[in-house]
Amino acid sequence: MKSFTWDKQELEELLIQKKKLLEMKPSRKKREGIEEDIEFLEEMLQLPQSLIENYSEELIVGEEAKPPRQESLAHALYQNYVKPYQNLTDKSFEHIAREAIHSVPEVEAYSPSEFKKTIKSDQELVANVLEVLRKVNKEFARFAEDTLYGPNRIVELLPISDEDYEMIPELGTCYLDTFLPHPFAVIYRNQTVLEFNTLGHELGHLYKEQFLSTQKEENSYFLELEGYFIELIMNDFAQNYGYSQEESLKEVQNRIHIINTFIQNLNIQYYASKFAKYSPYYLSIHKLEKELEKQNIPIFINKCNAIGYIDSDFDENIMMIHSLLGALDLYNLYRQDPEKAFYLLKRSFTLPTQSLEEYLEKINATYHQDGYTNLKKFVKRLEPIKRES
Ligand SMILES: [Zn+2]
Repeated sequence: MKSFTWDKQELEELLIQKKKLLEMKPSRKKREGIEEDIEFLEEMLQLPQSLIENYSEELIVGEEAKPPRQESLAHALYQNYVKPYQNLTDKSFEHIAREAIHSVPEVEAYSPSEFKKTIKSDQELVANVLEVLRKVNKEFARFAEDTLYGPNRIVELLPISDEDYEMIPELGTCYLDTFLPHPFAVIYRNQTVLEFNTLGHELGHLYKEQFLSTQKEENSYFLELEGYFIELIMNDFAQNYGYSQEESLKEVQNRIHIINTFIQNLNIQYYASKFAKYSPYYLSIHKLEKELEKQNIPIFINKCNAIGYIDSDFDENIMMIHSLLGALDLYNLYRQDPEKAFYLLKRSFTLPTQSLEEYLEKINATYHQDGYTNLKKFVKRLEPIKRES
């Protein structure tokens, strides 16, 4: 693919420059740096062209069949995934990347098969969830009732095998694509207690959809917020509906595991974005590698997966962290003032895309300022598990 030759040329030119620099007898420290750069550039120049082509194809599909880009892959990645986030205030971004990690312990996740089976029928499951939602919020419960029983039923309970259940990435899925006449959710039923929380989670997403119209722009920082918020509330009731105490703590632990994973990823990407300004782009990957080593972040970065770290996951990590932390703040507020929490939940759906700080203020999220109080409180819930083991 010709459109990426610019990159290669740039690298080759840089390599020549670096070699010239080396001939100028630099100081030892400088020389070491230059030698590292040379080694790296030589490796980069050996990367198979096919790798670069794969990446470019992905980008083009995402852009709805625009003509192939003329700029380099690196430039395209930078424009798409890094630059937009440099507008975020450094404070909140840096806090999340570098401080939150200390509030989230590394814990193992439980797989769905580690939760017990129930013999609940679909009707019972739905009735249980509705019973809880009626206690939680009247408006949301009414919506859920319409959704589950009304003529426009948009939740499908789909039985699947044990084998499939272990393989699926999510226990429920919401289809919100515009090519469908209306959104709908699927809950994969394998008769585990988890389906109680999952149904609550997907109903949260569907609830949001009714507030979104073509005029209103969805807030892309909180795509999962409503799902996690409802799940956190559901989990408080779970023990009345089949969960053991241990299982409800396993759910807490799984949530902490997810937060930890995304914060780890973001941490890497924080450094990645710091170095993204270096030109050519490949040099920034090299610097990233060195920085991670210095920061003692035990992630193996090779030249290929480094590109992946600045790829689309960057968006996802930020979205997931804001959703999870925002949901925790909202959940904490819910315990004091349920009405207000649901009011703010609705506000989170369509906030305009201005500054992140403004969003957070509007929905009363404080995690970026308060030292992750609610997150720490949430982590504390795991203590009974620790004591037992
Ligand atoms: Zn979700």
